[in-house]
Amino acid sequence: MKRLAVLTSGGDAPGMNAAIRAVVRSGLAQGWETFGVRRGYAGLLAGQLVPLGARDVGSISQHGGTMLGSARCPDFATEEGHRTGLRQLEQRGIEALVVIGGNGSQRGAHALSELGFPVVGVASTNDNDLYGSEITIGVDTALNIALEAIDRLKVTAASHERASLVEVMGRHCGYLALLSGLAGGADAIVIPERELAPDAVVAEISAAFERGKAHALVVVAEGAHYNAARLERYSREFHGQLGFELRVTQLGHVQRGGIPTVADRLLATRLGAAAIDRLARGEHGVLVGLSKGEVVATPLAEVVTGEKALDLRLLDLAQMLAM
Ligand code: ADP
Repeated sequence: MKRLAVLTSGGDAPGMNAAIRAVVRSGLAQGWETFGVRRGYAGLLAGQLVPLGARDVGSISQHGGTMLGSARCPDFATEEGHRTGLRQLEQRGIEALVVIGGNGSQRGAHALSELGFPVVGVASTNDNDLYGSEITIGVDTALNIALEAIDRLKVTAASHERASLVEVMGRHCGYLALLSGLAGGADAIVIPERELAPDAVVAEISAAFERGKAHALVVVAEGAHYNAARLERYSREFHGQLGFELRVTQLGHVQRGGIPTVADRLLATRLGAAAIDRLARGEHGVLVGLSKGEVVATPLAEVVTGEKALDLRLLDLAQMLAM
């Protein structure tokens, strides 16, 4: 019998639970025993492993977050940390590890893999900035929450002739801002990949007013240099010239805790099962993700060096439609 461990690491993402369930039950279908590691790499270093059976992962898929807990653990991102983690796994007779998480988490997975331990990563991050999967677990739910908030803000903004500036998640990546801005009909979208100068944002808002719009909408990624706080400070100077009164909303972690959408549950289920399938075929040192609708495996060495490009044609499209 094979002994397997699974952990969720970094930012929690809606759908992680469905991935855990798929890992545990696909493992059981292979005749393997699975241990859940609590609190990501922090729990691995502390040896917090619990056995997970089929019943332990029942009715968890409909909940956001992660039943195993997650953590950010700088101690693991050191050579000493990697060796301690490896020792913990070996002491418990674990033969393979599944790491559900984003960029930082997959760096940890790669480090363990480099030490010769069989690891498979599962692509999961709200920001969608992970190389090796065109969409990651959590993104669809986060997008839907952002869009619902944008829709609501537009309704009230239109009633009061206001401009709404909405900040969405995206530490280094404008994917959520771009997609929710495009879908929500933004007048301007501010993302790290193509920064928009604050005077251009102010100009877009006042131009929308001049065109007789009932409201204006600006969507900004938290990782943009001119994020919501900076844009608000800047636009205060131009208060009289905006036409609209400006209101700022930072969605923050509201986007994280949502009930996983169908798309996220299906993606997580497919990727969790695929991780076990790859291990069963003797494959490891890879990340399972989605490409053109199919599950694919990308070497972790490529994942940690690769950069995922954002389709900036969508930004041009949003700008063209904002008239
Ligand atoms: P995410 O996986 O969501 O991108 P983080 O970037 O915070 O989240 O990374 C999660 C955890 O992954 C970190 O707290 C750390 O324990 C581990 N990690 C990050 N970078 C490395 C690294 N270079 N080597 C090993 N582990 C790392």
